[in-house]
Amino acid sequence: MKKGWEMVQAEGLRFTCIRGCTNCCEQKGWVYLTEQDLRNAAAFLGLTAEAFEERYVYRTRRRMRLRKPPNAQCHFLSAGGCAIHPVKPVQCRLFPFWPELVEDRKEWHRTGKYCPGIGQGPLIQIGTALETAHQMRTAYPALYENSPDS
Ligand code: SF4
Ligand code: SF4
Repeated sequence: MKKGWEMVQAEGLRFTCIRGCTNCCEQKGWVYLTEQDLRNAAAFLGLTAEAFEERYVYRTRRRMRLRKPPNAQCHFLSAGGCAIHPVKPVQCRLFPFWPELVEDRKEWHRTGKYCPGIGQGPLIQIGTALETAHQMRTAYPALYENSPDS
């Protein structure tokens, strides 16, 4: 937490998502889901939660993530953007206000190399940035503790 405070106090955080950009969806990595994410996405697509999970989800004892299609990062990334945009998973909705980015100046700037919205737009209030990052910890507790998965 201290690093985050030092960072925002020193230079603040500017961010606005750039229309038409999908760079963050194209980065290597996993898209983790909450149980609510799963239910929301299933309903949005007109599927049962069970059918959605069978088709799109890989679940371990303590985590759930989207499966990846061959040669792509996400099943839901289409030419028009995210096909489940109104119900996209928490981590997609909160990006780039993830604790590991907001609380580490170098990571924030490194992320800005592929996210053109970083450094643009309004200055984000310190409290807002840290509260948003905290939502990640609440949504995905298993990702933010030291114990190994599953
Ligand atoms: S679910 Fe949507 S926002 Fe999240 S990575 Fe996939 S396409 Fe991008
Ligand atoms: S990379 Fe940044 S600007 Fe582009 S869609 Fe993601 S959050 Fe928005």
